[in-house]
Amino acid sequence: MARKILFFFGPPASGKGTQAEKLAQQLGLPAISTGDLLRRNNQLAGEYKSAMNEGQLVADEVINDLLIERLSQADAEKGFILDGYPRTKTQFEYFYNNIIKSEDKACAIEISVSEPEIYNRLAGRRFCPQCGAGYHLLYKPSQQPGICDKCQTALEQRPDDTEDIIKERLGLYQRTMGPLVALWWQMGELIIIKGEKEIDQVNDDILEALEEDGFLKLKPEII
Ligand code: AMP
Repeated sequence: MARKILFFFGPPASGKGTQAEKLAQQLGLPAISTGDLLRRNNQLAGEYKSAMNEGQLVADEVINDLLIERLSQADAEKGFILDGYPRTKTQFEYFYNNIIKSEDKACAIEISVSEPEIYNRLAGRRFCPQCGAGYHLLYKPSQQPGICDKCQTALEQRPDDTEDIIKERLGLYQRTMGPLVALWWQMGELIIIKGEKEIDQVNDDILEALEEDGFLKLKPEII
């Protein structure tokens, strides 16, 4: 079966997670965030706590194994949306050598946001430690302040959302994603979307770009 595979990436607080989830609902595909997979795995979250809190990358093999395990679940059969993966050339090569099949249709979407806007956005970001749902005090508030809409758990602020750590994460993002963006561009699989608009407008822009690219017209398989 030809799968629809979307890579979502962008600097911290670009809104890529929100957009990935929105698109996942619209396309009926799971949105898979490797950051969430790590945060929700108690053993790994403990083991790699300092790397994650300091904005450093976790070892490629750990991430690749987590991803393989997640992709083996039935909901990923028809395709999936990846948020925050691949983040290194090793992960990129692993994915294209071991996971993508020739019949799959893949597309990479970068949500671009300026540096000052990134800092502005970070202060309001919250997440649910139980189910991983993401919120923002201004842009995506929960119905009850401080409480997850999905599982009623108290929301938390990520420890890596401080200014120093964000600076580190931004630098790392530019160093690591730059070469991958060039690869996707060469392969003709790159779409860049401006992320400094209303959430629904960014979503419309993504849908329009995917439509233009032919990604959404991929014929459904007859099982
Ligand atoms: P995120 O929620 O995507 O910002 O990820 C949070 C943290 O998890 C990152 O700062 C890394 O420490 C780790 N992480 C998530 N995805 C990856 C990945 N693909 N490769 C390496 N580390 C990752």
